[in-house]
Amino acid sequence: QLQKVGFIGLGNMGYHMANNLIRAGYLVTVHDINYDAMKKFSEKGIPSKETPFEVAETSDVVITMLPSASNVLDVYTGPNGLLHDRSCVRPWLFIDSSTIDPQTSRKLSASVSSCPLEEQKGYANTPVMLDAPVSGGVTGAEARTLTFMVGGSEEAYIAAKPLFMSMGKNIIYCGGTGNGAAAKICNNLAMAISMIGVSEALALGQSLGISASTLTSIFNSSSARCWSSDSYNPVPGVMERVPSSRNYDVGFSSKLMTKDLALALASAKEVGMNCPLASGAHEIYTELCKQGYESKDFSSVFRHFYGGKDE
Ligand code: NAD
Repeated sequence: QLQKVGFIGLGNMGYHMANNLIRAGYLVTVHDINYDAMKKFSEKGIPSKETPFEVAETSDVVITMLPSASNVLDVYTGPNGLLHDRSCVRPWLFIDSSTIDPQTSRKLSASVSSCPLEEQKGYANTPVMLDAPVSGGVTGAEARTLTFMVGGSEEAYIAAKPLFMSMGKNIIYCGGTGNGAAAKICNNLAMAISMIGVSEALALGQSLGISASTLTSIFNSSSARCWSSDSYNPVPGVMERVPSSRNYDVGFSSKLMTKDLALALASAKEVGMNCPLASGAHEIYTELCKQGYESKDFSSVFRHFYGGKDE
């Protein structure tokens, strides 16, 4: 029942995730609004479809990996969307790995489950939806080492585990619908703040005469060690194979980080919590985008705000 997988959203992340599913032997059908993204698959003989609905018509499971909640809503509930024919849905499982707000995940999941299934599959009487955002970046997507944070029915999570294992390494069940989305927003909030903190400290160090490489070695064996210092260092020349070493191209865009910080702020507001560092980070990333860095990796915050000098 997991053999035929539809994959929608073939960008920086989705491209690698879909390829890993193909390598694992799943029969994958793809769709993207960007023809060039689809062409990379159709050229290899992988079926591509013009609309999400056509993907749904031939898939048991559909995975979406789209920029934001509005794109996810379009793909699910827009014209020719996955739920275009609400009287009869073929896929029994929908997995959304986009980073979106928990509220939208919860609403969509209820909408999915209110549709009848074309044919009963396994335990499911109605289609089910899991929110399963990821962490690990483009490198993790390519190397199949992503972490999945999964919210929704535990039975569906167990059934989907082989699929997740084909694209990632750590699969963490977070509880009910929307909890995966909530986990991801909190992860990215902490990551944005740590990236800004590491950038600011490395820039200060350079201005005080310590090279970013030396200071990074110190951080990585001291209490400042974190992912932004030891796996995704923002200073060009300190690490190989990270966005800072390729002019901040191909990574997690500043635009997407700004979106995620807005999601954190909206969620904080909803529960009446004050998050001053989320507000500060959101301001910095909004400004970074306005200055023309919106498509550059979010670690370019170093270059723009702090780092006049490279290594
Ligand atoms: P991306 O912009 O590179 O890719 C998104 C793809 O979705 C594009 O190919 C685009 O054409 C397609 N798309 C947009 N709207 C569409 C629609 N209506 N129908 C069909 N296709 C549509 O984004 P990405 O970096 O791959 O990120 C995808 C999601 O994963 C985002 O929510 C992001 O926050 C999250 N994420 C990204 C990273 C990362 O390092 N890039 C890491 C973890 C999570």
